[in-house]
This record gives sequence, C-alpha cells and structure tokens, in this order.
Amino acid sequence: MQPNYRRCISCRKIAPKQTFWRIVRVHSSRQVQLDKGMGRSAYICPHESCLYNASKKNRLGKVLRTNIPDNIYRTLWNRWHRLNNAESISTKPPNS
Ligand SMILES: [Zn+2]
Repeated sequence: MQPNYRRCISCRKIAPKQTFWRIVRVHSSRQVQLDKGMGRSAYICPHESCLYNASKKNRLGKVLRTNIPDNIYRTLWNRWHRLNNAESISTKPPNS
C-alpha cells in the first residue's frame, strides 16, 4: 500500500486517507473518538453503504477491539446527512 493510503473497514477500498473518516481508539484512555488522537485507527468511506455495513456488522468494534459507543455511529450518520444535504444544493455539475 502506498504511504498515506488507507483501507475502508467496510468495502475494503484503498484510497488516500484524507478521503476517509477516521475513528480512533485513543491509546492512553481507550476512549473511542473521531478524527483526532493517537491510537488504533479505523477508516471508513463517507458513504451510506459503508456506514450501514459498519454499524450493522459492528466492524468498527472488531477493528478497534472495543465497544463502540452509540454516539460514534450517530455522529457519523449526522455527518453523512450534512454532507448529502450540502451536495444536493451544490451547483457543481455531477462527475461523469
Ligand atoms: Zn467503504
């Protein structure tokens, strides 16, 4: 894998890490949080199917080897909704 590329925990797609959302189990506190922190990390595409599979099959819990608090999934879904609302009012032409 190239440096700075990561793999989605749901669809296993490989892409530059900044295209993913990052979920971290912080090394010192063992708390699970988004985006920031040092520790075991999981990456997921900001896509409905990936979020759905990750929450349904508890992929995050398996990858991070801990219980994932409900609010982590809730926050990811909130982000997804915001992102998609933003895209629906965007004036950019769709990629073809
Ligand atoms: Zn994915």
